[in-house]
Amino acid sequence: MPQQGDVSNIMKDFDFEFKDIVEAAKDVVIVTKADLIDEPGPEIIYVNQAFTELTGYSKEEVIGKTPRILQSKGTSEETKKLIRKGLEDKVPVRVTIKNYSKTGKEYWLDLSITPLFNDQGEVTHIVSIQRDVTEYIYTQNKLEELSRTDPLTGLINRRVFDEMAEKEFYRYQNQNIHYSLLALDIDYFKRINDKYGHLTGDYVLASFSTLCEKNIRSQDKIARIGGEEFCIILPATDKVGAIEVAEKLRRAISNARFKQDEHEIAVTVSIGVSQVKMSDYDYVAMLKRADENLYRAKHQGRNQVYSQD
Ligand code: GH3
Ligand code: MG
Ligand code: MG
Repeated sequence: MPQQGDVSNIMKDFDFEFKDIVEAAKDVVIVTKADLIDEPGPEIIYVNQAFTELTGYSKEEVIGKTPRILQSKGTSEETKKLIRKGLEDKVPVRVTIKNYSKTGKEYWLDLSITPLFNDQGEVTHIVSIQRDVTEYIYTQNKLEELSRTDPLTGLINRRVFDEMAEKEFYRYQNQNIHYSLLALDIDYFKRINDKYGHLTGDYVLASFSTLCEKNIRSQDKIARIGGEEFCIILPATDKVGAIEVAEKLRRAISNARFKQDEHEIAVTVSIGVSQVKMSDYDYVAMLKRADENLYRAKHQGRNQVYSQD
């Protein structure tokens, strides 16, 4: 007895086939045989028009092949496991996955994999319905990047710095890995703005940031904390190591000339250094000591590194 709403029953009243509807869908539809979950992978028996438009492969090119030809090496083990588990348990799975078109262009898919059962309750085929979510993923990534970075310099912002400094403090507490902080403030930066204008000031800030990044080690992390103030986390670094990094930076900056139009602009920087201490309750105490040392470096004439405990 056909159920009310049974599509195949309704379709009997019309001249078109169900396939025509699937062909017209904007989402990609792929049907594979259910066997061969392991290598070489399930065999494609049907793809709709949307598949051809998104991937660049013709139907003839992919029938008899496996959808794995579209998958990237970058697909995480976790995602693969989820898909495999769904196929084994014969339940639908939904994942977000990156694939590649015929020309090698990457695209992101919201992928739903659903088993199709025959009258005996056996899974004979699998239908995969895929929506192109590339734009959405790119927008999400862009928003994530914007929320983490400072637009002028591209450095991480204060919020991310706080997160990282906190993590470093936990690493110290749990594994006794000592670390250091540098607090930097450009000397007499107001004069740069006054003399060359705010736009050139911005350019100097961006160039200064790039130069700093070049003169720290790959494990160190620099953040723009405010106007022309920066902080650097030096993981697994003692006082001697921290002073070394700070001096190298100070020298590189005072030797540099930032070229803008006909100008060659020189700046110097003052740097306060601090190390984690047993008595510290959190990283904020350490940041405060770096700031105090920065203040002393300024007070002593600027263009110097100060590292008193
Ligand atoms: P000091 O040696 O004592 O640090 O002197 P300073 O002139 O650098 O003084 P201070 O650090 O107090 O002032 C920083 C100036 O940096 C003030 C502000 O006009 C400028 N500034 C802050 N943010 C920006 C920015 O995003 N772009 C530009 N162009 N200037 C900025
Ligand atoms: Mg300053
Ligand atoms: Mg300042």
